[in-house]
Amino acid sequence: MKKEELARLGLDSLTVHAGESPDPAFGAVAPPLYQTSTFAFDSPDQGAARFKGEEEGYIYTRLANPTIDRLEEKIAALEGGAGALACSTGMGAIATLYFSLLSAGDHVVATSSLYGPSRTLLEKQFSRFGVKSTWVDTADLELVQNSILPETKLLYIETPANPTIRLTDIAACAEICREKGLLLAVDNTFASPILQKPLELGADISLHSVTKFINGHTDVVGGILVFKDLEILRRVEKPWQMVGATMDPHQAWLVLRGAKTLKMRVEKAQANAMEAARMLEAHPEVEWVRYPGLESHPQHELALRQMKGPGSLISFELKGGLAEGKQVLERVKLCTLAVSLGGIETLIQHPASMTHAGMGAEARAQAGITDGLIRLSVGCEDAADLVADLKQALDSLT
Ligand SMILES: *Cc1c(COP(=O)(O)O)cnc(C)c1O
Repeated sequence: MKKEELARLGLDSLTVHAGESPDPAFGAVAPPLYQTSTFAFDSPDQGAARFKGEEEGYIYTRLANPTIDRLEEKIAALEGGAGALACSTGMGAIATLYFSLLSAGDHVVATSSLYGPSRTLLEKQFSRFGVKSTWVDTADLELVQNSILPETKLLYIETPANPTIRLTDIAACAEICREKGLLLAVDNTFASPILQKPLELGADISLHSVTKFINGHTDVVGGILVFKDLEILRRVEKPWQMVGATMDPHQAWLVLRGAKTLKMRVEKAQANAMEAARMLEAHPEVEWVRYPGLESHPQHELALRQMKGPGSLISFELKGGLAEGKQVLERVKLCTLAVSLGGIETLIQHPASMTHAGMGAEARAQAGITDGLIRLSVGCEDAADLVADLKQALDSLT
């Protein structure tokens, strides 16, 4: 379908149809998997013209591939972006972003509590090349303002953030970035484009670990960068090709398959999460629950304004702290003890000893990641079964 036609469709129709069109060779309705590393030229002149950019067409899969193009088109349409670049992993996307937009002497302001490696990559690796970073609670807009230096080039936020489920006001950050002339990038993995559209709120780049909700079936790693306009995409495109952080066609083909049911999965998991969060909040063993759908979430009002729904990530802490948390991790039966999130199955994990161990205790404390915090990624099982599983694990503590 043409861009203008797609723009008129609702999200259900878009998830099914964006990036999809019958295969020109045989009319296959499902997207063809072009599992090839290279593409034949009709003549030496054609090869030369493609390299010069004078003729459209494929050259080599690290540069572009028709199956990967379809995925980029689909996710760009869902995010309301001008274009997208699919990456080998979510970290491949984030590393490409940092690598292509930052130079020695530049400074980044970023959310203190976010996906662990997004932070350690800047702090421990890019610092070797003279890139500086300041990590703040980006929910506090005054703190964001005050952290911006003359050499700041990028405001990098994650909302909802991992694993504290704290939110950042995207539109307000976009306003700050416009005033100060910085780029705003948002890690939109936790919300997915079904629940939150950072580009429409003024961000320049929205990115995902497609490993999570977009693929949704726990069988692929991948990432994607989506751009508000093509000018920024073009700044990123060459470095992305040269570092080789590009996606493989088979990955793209699997993600295209998973993404068709994105909206249904996100909505089902979210309905389950609401029930799980209510049960957790009412349970006497639970100290606190952070879920944007609960009135008790400190930014519940922002969630209603900025997101179409609260999603399916919950963090909570037990009165007995880490010791009791470990017992719950051992006693759940339907929930699987594993990192990652956004899959069809419910996963439970302990960030301080797992996903956020690399940050170190001091940075965790500053970011609000307590030792007893348990993170739950609610899946698409029956709500009653999930609630019963969590409840039996909690009841066994008393
Ligand atoms: C998983 C994740 C990443 C990294 O993605 P990979 O596909 O594992 O490389 C980045 N950001 C968030 C919010 C994530 O959950």
